[in-house]
Amino acid sequence: MFNLILFGPPGSGKGTQSDKLVDKYGLKHLSTGNLLRQEIADKTPLGLEAKSFIDKGQLVPDEVVIGMVDSFFDLHKDAKGFLFDGFPRTAPQAVALDKLLDLKETGISAVLALEVSEEELVKRLLNRGKTSGRSDDTDEAVIRKRFAVYNSETSAVADHYKKSGKFQSVKGEGSIDDIFASLCKAIDARMH
Ligand code: ADP
Repeated sequence: MFNLILFGPPGSGKGTQSDKLVDKYGLKHLSTGNLLRQEIADKTPLGLEAKSFIDKGQLVPDEVVIGMVDSFFDLHKDAKGFLFDGFPRTAPQAVALDKLLDLKETGISAVLALEVSEEELVKRLLNRGKTSGRSDDTDEAVIRKRFAVYNSETSAVADHYKKSGKFQSVKGEGSIDDIFASLCKAIDARMH
């Protein structure tokens, strides 16, 4: 299996690039943000719980997200690899993911981190908020809160994978196609 983590702050382009990467490499896309938004749209108990955190720019509790990922694996037992987008977001999530993959006798192949300046990120998110219908993208205070959470909790995930030499930064500014080409180059180097 080839299992990729696409890493980076809110608005760094993970969703956009994920769509292109899963097409090219035949990976199964696991976006915890998308799964949570689907739960909210379906008005499930999990969705209702998650919404209260998401609307404040906070993380959904680890056990909720990890349970969701575990169920996703059960649904996609035949996948030839996964692309993780927006997960893991905390050190305990990274440890849990290692364990779940270990049970499948596989592991993380690479962690690619999109690097984008905070100024550009705020611009992109406010822009996305105009059309996406995502309430967490329309309020600049909520956006700033998400960056604070990213810096305080999610950056620990990078340290987790730096230790194993799987972490690589990629420039996340420029055209979508140029960024995609940089990601593909990094993936191809690690696949062969
Ligand atoms: P973005 O990266 O643009 O913030 P996402 O769609 O990945 O967007 O996530 C939106 C929100 O969903 C996050 O702000 C957070 O509240 C929640 N969320 C998504 N993934 C996770 C996760 N792995 N752990 C905890 N909360 C999550």
